[in-house]
Amino acid sequence: MSASQGKVYLVGAGPGDAGLITVRGKECLEHADVIFYDSLANPALLEYAPKAEHVFAGKATDKHTLTQTEINDLLVAHARAGKRVVRLKGGDPFVFGRGGEEALALASAGVPFEIVPGVTAGIAAPAYAGIPVTHRGASTSVTLITGHDEQALESGEVDLANISLHGTLVFYMSVKNLPIIARKIIAMGRDASTPVAVVSSGTFPKQRSVVGTLTDIHDKAVQAGVTPPAVVVIGEVAGLHDELAWFESLPLFGKKIVVTRARAQASELVRQLHDLGADIFEFPTIEVEPAKIDESFGNIGDYDWVVLTSVNGVEMLFERLEELGCDARDLAGVKLCVIGSATAEALHKRFLKVDLMPEKYVAEELMGALVAREGDLAGKRFLLPRADIARSFLPEELRKRGAEVKELVAYRTVVPRSTDERAEALLAYKPDLVTFTSSSTARNFYEMIGEERVACVKATAAFASIGPITAKTAEELGMHVTIQPETHDIPHFVDAIVDAIGRH
Ligand code: SAH
Repeated sequence: MSASQGKVYLVGAGPGDAGLITVRGKECLEHADVIFYDSLANPALLEYAPKAEHVFAGKATDKHTLTQTEINDLLVAHARAGKRVVRLKGGDPFVFGRGGEEALALASAGVPFEIVPGVTAGIAAPAYAGIPVTHRGASTSVTLITGHDEQALESGEVDLANISLHGTLVFYMSVKNLPIIARKIIAMGRDASTPVAVVSSGTFPKQRSVVGTLTDIHDKAVQAGVTPPAVVVIGEVAGLHDELAWFESLPLFGKKIVVTRARAQASELVRQLHDLGADIFEFPTIEVEPAKIDESFGNIGDYDWVVLTSVNGVEMLFERLEELGCDARDLAGVKLCVIGSATAEALHKRFLKVDLMPEKYVAEELMGALVAREGDLAGKRFLLPRADIARSFLPEELRKRGAEVKELVAYRTVVPRSTDERAEALLAYKPDLVTFTSSSTARNFYEMIGEERVACVKATAAFASIGPITAKTAEELGMHVTIQPETHDIPHFVDAIVDAIGRH
């Protein structure tokens, strides 16, 4: 096969959480020309392939459903046209995923293909519910079974009679057939009091587990309103849920939190909240654009201090310096001052140590720390690379004390165009919490959503602010802030959120 020839990758997307795709699966997405994805594959995974063509090829009531033959033909046709084709399937492509049929179609058409296994829901959903599918002393085997076809279950085509009496049974696609399954399993000799767990939307923040026995699991599942996708786990191991339900007992499990930060900056906040079990809705209210450097900038080495107040400031400053033909040595002798540990970290990554970082991450503290360190600021030369909309407190104070201040607009922030669709999706999401990490996020959120919708958001959500200035802006817009950390950085912000709305 030559590198220019097309190929089909049957990729397992994992059970739900986008982090559970394999490294190979992600690689295939990154290099894909076209992706045919299933309804069970997490759509967030498509972000690994922004330039590829995305074609929905799953079952959904509101969209045209392609038949299996149509899908097979499309895979073959695209590969023959020289494309790298990814067929992205929920879980593992060969476990109840019809991946085998697709592979056969490709083989008979002579199209090269690769199978990228995935983490199957029948193992992952129980794992996230604290249920090991095998367990010393309790279960030495696990059987994956389809519970989809009522007739096949009744007629014995799905042969339950010969299934191990002691092992774990995991049924896929079986919520509606739970009564038949329970009856058959009891009839084949398993104790009616055998533990059973139904795990729906496994590995997603909306995961639910219902635990009962073969006798009462159906009633319990109905009562709890369990909806597909769900797996049914039958066997002693299901009883371990109560003790090992690590995911559902995370402090922010299932809490719906809106992150309004610019996407480029949001990753740390999103990661920390996600690790604590939160369900995140990213609603970026800021886009960052580089600004043109102004003529009067001069030489960075001429300054006594460079004061950086954001990670963006660091990144944009270095981009501007590169454009000007500078190199790291031009910073020799210049002292660096930052607000915030994230900004310090951004400098560390460039092998630059910070000379001054105030205890509290606000401009007023910074002024105090500078004076304490330098004494007289008269005649000292300061460079402040910053956003176009930055507060003027710091330069004003520095000038009052006789310092020479150059404000360099390193980047501009713009309000993303808000589509009504996105704003409506946010309302439908019914958030528990909206987070603001700067005054602009609060202001832009209000502008993008509109007054009426903000009123609706207020009905379900609390508001959290990283610091007092941001809180003031939010309050002025009628968004009452009830959560605010003492130290104004992301880790403390997350702690404050856990204290306020988390389970303890
Ligand atoms: N190839 C997939 C299975 C596809 S069949 C895999 O390996 O996981 C679809 C069935 O998988 C659903 O009816 C449900 O039983 C199960 N399933 C898929 N995603 C699930 C999830 N997140 N939580 C629980 N069950 C899930």
